[in-house]
Amino acid sequence: MSDGYLPYGRQSIDQDDIDAVTRALQSDYLTTGPEISAFEAEFAQTVASPNGVACNSATAALHMAYDGLGLRPGDAVIVPAVTFLATANAARFCGADVVFCDVDPETGLMTPDTLREALARAQDRVRLVAPVHLGGVMCAMEDIAGLARPLGLAIVEDSCHALASLDEAGQPAGACPNSDAATFSFHPVKTLACGEGGMVTTRDAALAERMRLTRSHGMVRDGARLERAAGAQEPWWYEMQALGWNYRMPDINAALGRSQLTKLSRFAQRRRDLSSRYDALLTPLSPHVQPPAGRPGIDACRHLYNVRIDFEALDVTRTELMRALSQQGVGTQVHYIPVSDQPYYKALYGEQRFEGADRYYARTLSLPLYPAMDDGDPERVVTALKAVLGL
Ligand SMILES: *Cc1c(COP(=O)(O)O)cnc(C)c1O
Repeated sequence: MSDGYLPYGRQSIDQDDIDAVTRALQSDYLTTGPEISAFEAEFAQTVASPNGVACNSATAALHMAYDGLGLRPGDAVIVPAVTFLATANAARFCGADVVFCDVDPETGLMTPDTLREALARAQDRVRLVAPVHLGGVMCAMEDIAGLARPLGLAIVEDSCHALASLDEAGQPAGACPNSDAATFSFHPVKTLACGEGGMVTTRDAALAERMRLTRSHGMVRDGARLERAAGAQEPWWYEMQALGWNYRMPDINAALGRSQLTKLSRFAQRRRDLSSRYDALLTPLSPHVQPPAGRPGIDACRHLYNVRIDFEALDVTRTELMRALSQQGVGTQVHYIPVSDQPYYKALYGEQRFEGADRYYARTLSLPLYPAMDDGDPERVVTALKAVLGL
């Protein structure tokens, strides 16, 4: 059991990661070199996808994916009210509107029912649906696709929390059997760290090609793909064929990502083991404190250990609990304030209430969960929790 401060999440960096970054720094490339294509191929293979497109954040990944799937001004995207800001913001980057949908009050996930309600509200402006696998628990993708596909809607899975989670068919998040694309983040608190970094996986080779274009200014140099054939003879010639951005991942980050990827199965097993320990310790505290909700058939590799606490019944505020835990060396966080309640979105769309999102948000608290935690740490956290709550 460690006696230092336990943050709610943190990266695990070993000497082999440091060596990989050092090698990249000593190579001829600091950006867009051989590490990028190798990382894309290895990551895509890990999640059983034929294509991976690396970029410098999952925010960029979401933007490239939405744009590549044809999202344009006047369109709308359905986004669960409980998610990180970027799932919604990427729609705004495309000039599209966000139609928030409610979530299941226990899991915080978009469900076929909440999607159906949002579709009815948004009418025919919707062009894309963006389910979020909150905490690593995957949404009911087959049913969501069953609603969205017949309407011709594109589907992007925000899989930032779900690396190494398996769906009902045993397929990893990112394989996209029921979607057009999945996005991942390599921010340090996520399951795999690059510093900053993101990835889109997709079965659609044309979409992957389009994202490789927009990732770097929409610029083409490859002779065979130029519109002006004579350009192929001119060594300086390049064409901008689409409006793109600089969303390139540095080779340095990709080297770190590749090194981290070799340890993914160990990281994932650690997250599963620590989650099971927490589950066993918390189950007796029900109904005041409950382990995170799962979904039948989903083998979640939890990115967050987002417990449900009935603060009202316990007569403790979340602020009091977080402060008291922090004094005992236990860091916690809240994932997430409903995005629809952010001042920017309230100014755009007015005050909106979602019953499931409000109920989820009122009770959620993320306890420390990361691979470097010791076996005894969940007990240390739960003991502190019980002491503060008087349980
Ligand atoms: C972290 C996260 C993002 C954004 O990832 P960045 O790499 O920081 O841009 C998007 N969606 C979800 C659900 C996330 O957790």
